[in-house]
Amino acid sequence: MENKAYIALGSNMGDRFGYLTQAIILLESHENIAVENTSSIYETDPVGFTDQDQFLNMAIQVRTSLGPVELLDTCLEIELKLGRKREIKWGPRTLDLDILLFSHENIETEKLTIPHPRMSERAFVILPLLEMDPNLTLPNMKEPLKNCLLSIPDREGVRIWKQKNGEDVFALIES
Ligand code: AMP
Repeated sequence: MENKAYIALGSNMGDRFGYLTQAIILLESHENIAVENTSSIYETDPVGFTDQDQFLNMAIQVRTSLGPVELLDTCLEIELKLGRKREIKWGPRTLDLDILLFSHENIETEKLTIPHPRMSERAFVILPLLEMDPNLTLPNMKEPLKNCLLSIPDREGVRIWKQKNGEDVFALIES
């Protein structure tokens, strides 16, 4: 499978951990997609429309023989299957899947923009990506992605999430 892609996952409704897990299982069960790496899970204060519950966010690295639009269609199908309803822009969702990077491609069509717009401004996207590849550089940027973290305001609202005996626990993020 010749293409490497990074996908961001987010959920802030219902069984958030369950939605992230099921999305990864569905992606992995696709015959043209192999999940190669997964980040930690982060709990994140909402940005944009802030009157909503906190998100669980993570990112995964996949190999795929699909093209970028086919991968997007697969992600949209999985969102629908897991109950996604589109009501408020940037509002609550059972599952959001965004393609962050697709090989070294720059894509700008009505349906698909890659690298994903605003990804380099969001700590909840950058931190999980850097966990998987600390030296990642975006195809449309000269500087490594890690340099973007220095100028990001929402870093405080992003922390590693775990569950222990059914309770949420948090770990500090090392810089
Ligand atoms: P949202 O679920 O609100 O993030 O928006 C989903 C829509 O954004 C999809 O229907 C896509 O057509 C569009 N879109 C544009 N670029 C991307 C991308 N890189 N990953 C996922 N969706 C994208």
